[in-house]
Amino acid sequence: MIPRQADAIIVGGGIMGAATAFFLRQHGMSVILLERDLLGQAASGVNFGNVRRQGRFLPQLPLANRSREIWGQLPELLGEDVEFLPSGHLRLAFREADAAQLEAYARDARPYGLELELISHNALRERFPFLSPEVVMASYSPVDGHGQSAARRPGLRPRRPPRRRHGAGEHGSPGHRQAR
Ligand SMILES: Cc1cc2nc3c(=O)[nH]c(=O)nc-3n(C[C@H](O)[C@H](O)[C@H](O)COP(=O)(O)OP(=O)(O)OC[C@H]3O[C@@H](n4cnc5c(N)ncnc54)[C@H](O)[C@@H]3O)c2cc1C
Repeated sequence: MIPRQADAIIVGGGIMGAATAFFLRQHGMSVILLERDLLGQAASGVNFGNVRRQGRFLPQLPLANRSREIWGQLPELLGEDVEFLPSGHLRLAFREADAAQLEAYARDARPYGLELELISHNALRERFPFLSPEVVMASYSPVDGHGQSAARRPGLRPRRPPRRRHGAGEHGSPGHRQAR
């Protein structure tokens, strides 16, 4: 029978509702999560997956820092691979005035615990040779990155790496997805 009472009732099974339900359960509360369709079907299942802190409104950074910490813990917390990759995040300036803004932001973000590296001139070309020569400065956040929003979408689950059989080659494709 479907329970009709709980400590908390949450409306909406996107990442906000599902995460709230998850953590309330971890604190021992009973939860009813109401979703009108499928969990993760809306924005939470189709976004770009960027886990980015730089550029955010500064007073929002403590929350963003906490969120970034949780992204790093998700495999242990969920027992699922959401393919979070801390590949780094670049913000680019194409004009000197924009470069000054990047510098100001890096200075102001430091007290909030966000360390940004400002890179320009030859160092920029050496480290990121794929960037346009029009870029005058980059602000680099080394531990931000992206997760896989499709991993949270109904019907799609990351395929586990194939179990190696005796004598099998090295060419598994764990990154591919399959519908269930
Ligand atoms: C194209 C795109 C790209 C994005 N890229 C990024 C990104 O790179 N990085 C980033 O951090 N964010 C990104 N976002 C934003 C991010 O996806 C959203 O902020 C986040 O998913 C919102 O989560 P949510 O749980 O609040 O909402 P949703 O995922 O929209 O979930 C709301 C749920 O509530 C349900 N619902 C609504 N009303 C009712 C009701 N009355 N009864 C029952 N259920 C109901 C809906 O069916 C839905 O499942 C992007 C968004 C989009 C659209």
